[in-house]
Formats: sequence, C-alpha cells, structure tokens
Amino acid sequence: MFVSDSLSVNSRGHLTIGGADVVSLAEKYGTPLYIMDEDKIRRTCRAYTSALKQCYGDSHTVFYASKAFSAKYIYKIIAEEGLGADVVSGGELYTAIKAGFPADRIHFHGNNKTSAEIELAIKYGIGQFVVDNDEELNLINEIAKRENIVADISFRVKPGIDAHTHDFVKTGQIDSKFGVALENGEAFEIVKKAISLPNIRLCGVHCHIGSQIFDIEPFAHAAEVMMAFVAKIKNELSYEICELNLGGGFGVRYTEADDPKSIFDAVKNFTDAVKREAEKFGVKLPHISIEPGRSIVAEAGITVYAVGAVKEIKGIRTYISVDGGMTDNPRYALYGSEYTMLLPERALAEKTECVTVAGRNCESGDLLGENISLPKAQPGDLLAVLTTGAYNYSMASNYNRVPRPPVVMVNNGEDKLVVKRETYEDIIANDIM
Ligand SMILES: *Cc1c(COP(=O)(O)O)cnc(C)c1O
Repeated sequence: MFVSDSLSVNSRGHLTIGGADVVSLAEKYGTPLYIMDEDKIRRTCRAYTSALKQCYGDSHTVFYASKAFSAKYIYKIIAEEGLGADVVSGGELYTAIKAGFPADRIHFHGNNKTSAEIELAIKYGIGQFVVDNDEELNLINEIAKRENIVADISFRVKPGIDAHTHDFVKTGQIDSKFGVALENGEAFEIVKKAISLPNIRLCGVHCHIGSQIFDIEPFAHAAEVMMAFVAKIKNELSYEICELNLGGGFGVRYTEADDPKSIFDAVKNFTDAVKREAEKFGVKLPHISIEPGRSIVAEAGITVYAVGAVKEIKGIRTYISVDGGMTDNPRYALYGSEYTMLLPERALAEKTECVTVAGRNCESGDLLGENISLPKAQPGDLLAVLTTGAYNYSMASNYNRVPRPPVVMVNNGEDKLVVKRETYEDIIANDIM
C-alpha cells in the first residue's frame, strides 16, 4: 500500500512506522522529526548477506556506505549485523570508532583524503584505503612508511559504464572526479606502480557506477569489465587481485513509479557474471564486496513536519509551508528528487489536492516537492515525507541557524531517541567571540 513495507495504518487511521504511531511520536518528540525503523534496516542488511551467501558462498563482505546516514547508533546496528562500513571522511571515521565499530572492517573512500585523515585512519588500524589517485597513493605510501606499516589498498576504477541515473550521482564514466580510468590505461599504470611500492599492499579493485540505479544489468556489466581488468593484471603483471568491490547504488522506492528489482535478483545477476568471467579468463574467484548505502536506510526512514502557512495563489499554485525544509532535506533543491507525502493523522484520506510543499528557509528554492498529491491540509496538521532515511539527516545543515531535528529509532513498536534535537546553545557552541 505504501512505498515502504515499514509503513502501515492503525485503527485510528494514523500512519505507523515499524509498528509505532507516527502521530504519537510527533507529540512525544516534536517536529520536525526523523523516524527510522531499526528492524527494517536489519532485515535489509540480512537480505544482502543472505543473498550473497546463497549465490556466492562465504567469500563476500557487505559494506554499509555510511554517508547515507551516519550517527553512532547506525554503526552499532551495522556492526551487530556483521557488515563492514565505508567512510569518506575523518568525521565519519571518528563517529564509527566512537560507536565501537571494529576498525578492521572499515574502508576509507573519498577523492581527496587529507594527510590528517590518512594518519588518523592508520592510527585506528582501518581495513583498507580505497585509493582514488596517484597523489594519494604516494601520500599513503609515505605515511605508512613513516608509521612503519604496510597499508592495504584497493583502487577506485572508472569502468566506463554509463548507468542511467541523475547526472550528479553518476560516477562510472570517464568524465568523473572519482577514481582512475580504465580506457586510457591510467588504471593499469597506477596498479603497476602500487605493486612496486614497499609500504602498499594492493588487495583489490573497486568500482561504483552511480546511485539510485534500478536496472540490474549495469552491475553485471561492471563485473565483466572489472574481471577483464583483473585478468589483464594477472597476465601482464603476474599479480593476483584477490578482491572485487562492485560498490553500491541499488535503487529504492521514493514514489509508486519506482520499481527496484529484488536484492536477491541483483546479487544473483552480478555474482553469476563474476563466476562466468572468472572461468572465461582462468582467474581465481575473487572475494566480492558491495557497498549499499541508500538501499539499507532510505525506505526505513520518514520525516514528520508540522504544517504552518497554507498559501493559495489563485490560478497558480498552493504552497504548503512546513517547519523544516532544505536544512533537513536538501535533495529536492539539489536534484529535484521526488517524494511521496501524506498526512499521518489521516493516512488513508483521499489525495484530492496538488500542492507545492515549501520549507521555512529564506530561499525560493527551499522546496520539498512540487506537484505533490495530498489530502487538503490545514495549519497545524502533520505532514510526513516518506523514504527519507538516506541522504537527509546526513546532508542536513544549520542554514538560517536552524537546529537539526532529532532521530528516533523504532523497533517493533518501541521507540528510542538516538540523536537528540539540536538546541540554540548547540548552534552557537563554536562562536568563540
Ligand atoms: C555513495 C557511495 C556508495 C553508496 O551509494 P548508494 O547509492 O547510497 O548505495 C557506495 N560506494 C561508494 C564509493 C560511494 O561513493
């Protein structure tokens, strides 16, 4: 009935998430409010690990790409579910470590890691650097030498695949700021160099072709291209690449029009491709890693707002303003992302209106959506935006000095606060003069 199986309606006609009444949670914690279904997150983790086990055996790791939603509590869930974690900054790394996440299950990504971040990662003993470029390879080798260790790395490779998704979240093509390109020989040269560096151990090759991809073929295609590269390295450099990381990017449902394939189908498709290509090229089956971010948390989350002003501009449009906006969800402003919305106090009410939902920030572009179907809303109503578990809290800002909303986790009807609401004191905490 809804875009996520976390959501339902109770006997009072209220929206529920993970078995908890959304209206009661809004009363208890205030608005705006992020709510996430912990059980849904755990189920999704298990869907990935069990599909990989069934299709490929034990030689696999699922890394949660934690930029999708990063706070101490999620690293605890992910650790308990046996996944690894990707981080892309010192801040994400620090959060994971402070949450007790095992350092050896952390991979460090990013296209411009600083010396300070590399030093911190080495100090914590992370599992692997996913190296983006030549500059960074030299830097890691140098720091590792100084620290007297050998750093495990893999390379972020641009496989030259055009996944059909938004330009801003497309990353596999040659014109991308991420990684080294295959087609011009850049990737091969850097691999050759890495093998010769004394404080570097090359473990794997990595690609990530984009985000919110519904088609499963591009992942299998990426697997083929990467396995050919593994074979070339073996044949020409006599070096065995043990790990193949196919990145994340699996699509989720924001609206009824979104139709992602099942996790099992996607996993089956690319693992079959890896097995086929390994046999064709006579290389050993690599350890397979994937890095889902959005698909682990997106559908598990919603955001609840209170409706304020309702502005009907005759013959033009109706603006419904809520008490949040681009500060807690910049995705419409950034990408024009579509969402499903409803009124949680009347979750099944017929959607008779077509409105623009606006935020409370001082930007005309501060919208959460246009042409949104909703029942007739009035000031004081609650409004829920669905599928906000990924790239919402993690992209939130304090623009206009708006405090960030809290995050509540629900698990089988029980709620707990995992990130508290920022206060005005938090807002001025770093203003030292
Ligand atoms: C962002 C990112 C991911 C996760 O992408 P999703 O679309 O959220 O699944 C995985 N790997 C890398 C390298 C990324 O940059």
